[in-house]
Formats: sequence, C-alpha cells, structure tokens
Amino acid sequence: MSSEKRTRGPNKQTPWARQPEAGLSVLRLPLDTSDPVQRARLASMFGGAYQVRRGLQRDAQDRSRAYWAAHHERERNPIVVRDRLGLSRAGFEHAAYEHLDAAPHLRRFVTKALAMHLADSVWNATERHLFRDAAGRRQGALHIGRWYDFTRLPGRARSHTTQRKWETFRLHGTLAGHRAAYTRNGDFMQPHRMRAVENTSWWSYDGPLALVFSGLTDGTLVLPVRLPTAPSNQPILDHHLGDPSRWHKIDLVRRRDPNAAGGWRYEAHLMVLTTPYVSPTAAARRATVAIETIDRVAGIDVNVSNITVASHEHGRGTQVTRVERDETQKQRDRSRARRERRRQRDLDRSRRATNRGQYRLSKRQEKRARRRAEAGLSPVDVIPSGPRIARADGVPLQGYRRDRLSARYHRQRAAQVAEAASATRVRQDRARQIAAEIVGTHGYQLLVEDCSVAAWSRSWGRAVAAFSPGTLIAALDREAQAVAALAGASGGVRRIATQTTALSQHCPCGARVAKRLADRVHRCPSCGLCGDRDAVSAVLASFVVLADHGDPSSARVDYAATTNALPDIRRALHPSSSGWQDTLSESTDLSARDGSFITWSTSTPDSGLVARRIVGTVACPILNETGFHQTTSERARWRTNLFRRTSLDAAICGTALSCSP
Ligand SMILES: [Zn+2]
Repeated sequence: MSSEKRTRGPNKQTPWARQPEAGLSVLRLPLDTSDPVQRARLASMFGGAYQVRRGLQRDAQDRSRAYWAAHHERERNPIVVRDRLGLSRAGFEHAAYEHLDAAPHLRRFVTKALAMHLADSVWNATERHLFRDAAGRRQGALHIGRWYDFTRLPGRARSHTTQRKWETFRLHGTLAGHRAAYTRNGDFMQPHRMRAVENTSWWSYDGPLALVFSGLTDGTLVLPVRLPTAPSNQPILDHHLGDPSRWHKIDLVRRRDPNAAGGWRYEAHLMVLTTPYVSPTAAARRATVAIETIDRVAGIDVNVSNITVASHEHGRGTQVTRVERDETQKQRDRSRARRERRRQRDLDRSRRATNRGQYRLSKRQEKRARRRAEAGLSPVDVIPSGPRIARADGVPLQGYRRDRLSARYHRQRAAQVAEAASATRVRQDRARQIAAEIVGTHGYQLLVEDCSVAAWSRSWGRAVAAFSPGTLIAALDREAQAVAALAGASGGVRRIATQTTALSQHCPCGARVAKRLADRVHRCPSCGLCGDRDAVSAVLASFVVLADHGDPSSARVDYAATTNALPDIRRALHPSSSGWQDTLSESTDLSARDGSFITWSTSTPDSGLVARRIVGTVACPILNETGFHQTTSERARWRTNLFRRTSLDAAICGTALSCSP
C-alpha cells in the first residue's frame, strides 16, 4: 500500500471557460433595505469584511517589505523567498482563514468563501506591486484602504458545469414571478414596501427576485430586489434577467447616500454572460451610419476645453465640427461650482469647530484676543480660522483622520460624494450622446493625436475637469467600435504620434507654419489658407496615414492628398455663414479685459459693433465669444486659467471661424 496522499487526480472534463464572443454585461439591481434588521446585518457584513481585508492588507505590506529586504536570498532564488513569506494567492487565502479563525465573532457576518475572495482581491494588488506588467511598470507601495472607499464585496461566480453551486451572493426568483407579484390593474408598479421573501428551497423558488447569502451563523440573509418599473426599462430587464442560466456572478456594492437610512444605499451588481443591451433605435442608427460613412475618415484635435473633428471622403466633402460646452451648461457648471465651494467652506468650518485645538487663530482673531486681554476682558470662544498646527515641514501634528467630526459633517460629506458621482454620470451620459452624433456625421474611422490628458490636468486641472476630453474620446472610441463591428470593418479611435506629424505646425499645402500655443488662428504665408488652428489640425489629422496600425510613430501626413483637397478644405474652413460672426475678433487692439465690462477704446470705427462684440450673444459660441456677458479671448483663458467649473458637459455646434482678411 502506498503511503502517498490520495487525491482525486486532475479534472477529467474540459474546464469551463467563458466565451468572450458571448459578451459580458453588468446590471445594477438596487436592494431594498427598509427592514432595519437586515440593513444592520448588511452594514455589519461590510464592517466585518473591512476588518478582514485590513488584516490582509497589513499582512501584504509586511510580507512584501520582508521580500524586498531579503536582497541576497532573493538573488539566489526569488520563488523560495515568496514561498517562505506566503506571497501567493494560496498564502493569502490561508491568512484570511487564520484571521477568521482568530476572530470567531466575525463569523456572524463573514463566511470563509467571502474571506477567500477578499484575499484574492488583496493578492491581485500585491501581484501588481511585486511583478512588472507588460509595459515593464510595477505599482508602488501597498496601502491600507480607507473605510469610506471600501464599497465592494466581491462575490463568487456560479458553477456553469455543476447544478445548484453558487457560493456567497446568489440571485433567486424569476423576472416573471417578480412582475406577477407587483402588478396591479395590469400595470407593473413600484411598491412602497417590498414583500418579505422567505423560503427554504431556494433552487425551486420562482417568486419575486431576491439576493440571498447563506452560510452565516445568524441564518440566511435575504434582501428583496427593487426593479425599475418604467416601460423604457423593461426591455433592459428582459435582456439581462430573462435567462437565469446566463447569470454569472454578483458583487455587493454600497454607495454613500445621505438620504438613505443608515447613510448607505446597497446594490447588487449582477454580471450576465450576454452582450450589453442596445436599444432598437440605437441599433438602427448604427446600421445606417455603418453604410453611409463607410469611406469617411476623421481626424480629431483635442484641446483642454474643446475638441474639433474634421472628416472627408477621399479628399471630398470635408466637414468640420467643434465640440465645447454651451452657455447653458457653463451656467449650470458655474452654479454647481458655487454650491460646491459653499459646501466645502461649511465642511471646513465644521471641522474647525469640532477640533479647535488643532488650528491657530487667524491674525485678526489673535489681535482681537490681545486687545481684549489688554483691556482686561474675558477671552471670547471663537472658531479659529488660522492655519492647522503642523510640524516645520508642514505635516499636521494630528492626522486628519483622527479628527472628531460631527454628524452634520458626515451628512454633508456624503451629500458631496453623492453629488460628485451624479455629476460624473451626467458627464458620461452627455459624452455618449455627443459621441453618437459625431460618429453619425464623421464616421467610425477616427484618428487622434497621441497626447496625455493626464499631463494637461497638471497645468489646466480645472479646465480639463470641466470639459473632460478624456471621457469624450473614450465614448467616441466605444461608439465607433460598435458601428465598425456592424460594418464588419476595423474602426475606433486610433492614436497618431505628434513628433512625426506636428499637425499644429503645418499647413495642408505642406508648408511649415510655426505657431505658439497662444496663436489660435492659422495663417499660411505660402498658400494663404486661413482658419481656426484646431480645425486645420483636425483636417490634417484626417489625412494621416498609419503604416502600422498599432504603432502611433508610423504616422505620416499625406500631403499629396491634402494639396489636392485644398479647395475643399478652404470651403469647409470658411462656412458661408452671414452675420457678424465673420467680423474681426482676434484683434491686436485692446478689447474688453477678462472679467470686466468696460470697453477700452479700439480702432474699430463702429462703436455699435464694439458693444455687440462685448454683450451680444450668438446661437453658438465662436472663438472670441465664449462668455455670456463678457468677451474672454481664448488666448487669455489659456494663459490665466480662468476656469471656475467643476463639471463638464459639452455641446456641439458648427465651426465658426474668424480670420483677418
Ligand atoms: Zn499653406
């Protein structure tokens, strides 16, 4: 008889693997937590999981420090060191079990399966720190995550080979059962209170949908799912929930919401093995675009506060579109920014009020205190408005996280987070709409200069955040790829190197026209072409040829084609718009200063024109007409960073150019 450990041996069947072509889509299902008992259990589950994860993150920190410190041993054989320190997926999973065994009280809220998935997520971060990625980069030191950033409990994927095997979070019930339970007079309606779901045989249950988590010592956790009842949402629900065999995995996610009981709103993120839902209207639109724009190639010029798209079909039919925020959106952003500043001031004041010992008095407050002391008056208790008490190198003596904070502070902070999240959603929604319009006009083959929006953020943070060109380009890429897939061609946003093309420094005729960043108008001395700098760049980008599609540095501008297309480009850059948009706007004379309503004397003879230029409005902003009340030259805006907006939206309008004759 052999004394070796007996195992079942390797898996005889072919292991299940996800088919990428089947697609992957995530549906957010809001959970009903009106039952205070279940809500408390959910909150404790996040609390317990956070403790386990924090323990694991400390382990990861210690172990990787020890790993980097063992120079000689690592040089001999790094694998042995990692084995010794338990730096592996299995090592972290064992550590998680040990934490749970050492803290049995947590077993009321956290199961071993959940702890294992937390260990996996910590190991993934550790892996990125220990090993280099394909680009040769390694992530920096590991950090302990903060409580408020801990928003996701990863669940386990169900087994697609074994029936009834789905650990951690499961979804039970059927869509039909759900609709049947909440239909009144033939209408699917939203109940004020969801019915409590109780069952013991979950695998044969077909009532209203519920999130189920079993294996806890306090019994199974059951949370009813709330489904949207709007008719427009029903096809989406049918698409995702119609076939339960495609349900794959559920993560439990919480979101801060000052209006929800307990301060958090809970959602189940259901991953479904299907393609994301596309409405029939969007599908029809994409199909039309795929046929109509098959020969169109577009170039994009990205800026801090606007993007310009130009496209042509074999050098003909050039079209130019400029995208920037319109006045309504700017106004909305301004009021949101104002609201945000006020809230930030409130938060700061509240923090100072509850932690008076951590702040100095301001100069004025000090002077007043001195004056009162000299006059023999008792000191007044004020909220100090001076700087925080800190070491010589500026680090606060007491960390901000040790501050005592009021309930009102927490509420306000939650509102701030919720509003920022909603602003992001609005921005992404808007970007999607704009992307659909642009791809509809300019086709699905787009070229963009390979520049780093992140680097711009360092210089023009506010402006970039307000317009968020990165979000827009990402949305364009997604839309273009979706259309290209329908057309059966390759498409999307391709990157082209700036060094080999120098789009902003060239003219379509091939001549080099040097421009500083401040020069917003392109004037070519050799061919006389004159137009908006961004539009000219975008036109050039649309004529770029990539020798190797994956390599941005293989990009060259096809100047033979641009020279042939010059008359067409000239026409596109000067749309036959009438009215005063064509008047001189980039004048070398003094004009109204930024932030001022006063008109300086200019050499323009017609004073009516000057007044109109300053206070007038047009249907869409033109280069020198970006504000509602005042003229802000693009140049000054770039230089002075006058942006005061936190969030962004953008609007499409046709190009409007101004150019001196
Ligand atoms: Zn030229």
